[in-house]
Amino acid sequence: MVFEDHASTTDCAFETEQAVPAQRASWSFRSARPAAANATPVQSPRQTLKNSISCTGIGLHTGFRVSMTLHPAAPGSGVVFRRSGPHGVALIPALWTHVKDSRQCTVVGNDDGVTVATIEHLMAAVSAMNIDDLLIDINGPEVPAMDGSAAPFVFLIECAGVTAHLPSQPAAAPRTAIRILETVTVSHNGAEATLAPTSGNGLNVAFEIEFAAAAIGRQSTSVQVSPAVFKNQVSRARTFGLIDDLPKMRAAGLARGGSLENAVVVNGADVLNEGGLRYPDEFVRHKVLDAVGDLALAGRPIIGAYHGTRSSHALNTALLQALFAKPSAWVAVDAATGLPLADQPMAAEPLRAIA
Ligand SMILES: [Zn+2]
Repeated sequence: MVFEDHASTTDCAFETEQAVPAQRASWSFRSARPAAANATPVQSPRQTLKNSISCTGIGLHTGFRVSMTLHPAAPGSGVVFRRSGPHGVALIPALWTHVKDSRQCTVVGNDDGVTVATIEHLMAAVSAMNIDDLLIDINGPEVPAMDGSAAPFVFLIECAGVTAHLPSQPAAAPRTAIRILETVTVSHNGAEATLAPTSGNGLNVAFEIEFAAAAIGRQSTSVQVSPAVFKNQVSRARTFGLIDDLPKMRAAGLARGGSLENAVVVNGADVLNEGGLRYPDEFVRHKVLDAVGDLALAGRPIIGAYHGTRSSHALNTALLQALFAKPSAWVAVDAATGLPLADQPMAAEPLRAIA
């Protein structure tokens, strides 16, 4: 099945992420430690797609037309991009350890310089829909922007269907999650991102933004992430940008594929898109969407409470770096029950089941 988007080539939009350059940032860390739960041997199965499914669209920043196919993948393989191009075929895990750039969007790559950009909206849909193992064929350098939100990717996943790996399958692995045990915070230039322990059994994402543009202003929201909540309350929120930022972004080679078809464009108090906003607070909901996508690069679901204040892709990436730099801050648990298992290695080598 092919979902063809309707991206326009009109040059009038872009994405603003209040980003800070990851390479130049100096992060600060804080932590506080609560008690851990007792171990119980409970397991739930990992999930993948029932069928392959494809889409075609324009990359937001590169402007390139790209085809992408989501395939079922073997248990334990994780989410992996299989990027084809003049260089041949490269396998790139969707993991925080493979992030190469996070200034305007999240870019993963391998050591040979092959990259896939703007993965965050796709990754948000994949993780929120509880997909653990997925092979993503892509023939260009950037995930298609589609309509600027994660809704087209949720649609693709629902059309393909979601299925649990059977325990009898070879190499079947339990569905593990990461339970946050200690609060970890990173901050930079007044922006802050935190992961804290929660008494719940899922991921809560809270976000605050403040823009001078009156159409955005100050917005905050909090979402307990589940497939239904993500689909209905978050997935349709589009990326956005300020019209005044367009010239410098274009000068930097960004937003070449941006248009009113795949971004909300703000000019002071006005939203330039015909039809206006999809949610009254669409802007902060999109920042929640971005955070869900960035946190998906942990490689496993996170059980904890995220709080972002004007956070960016760069700060979210730094948050995962800070979390995994501190082994006492998290523990591997069964994703269904939230109870600790005997820890397993991070899916740092997810290619074994795909190669
Ligand atoms: Zn975004």
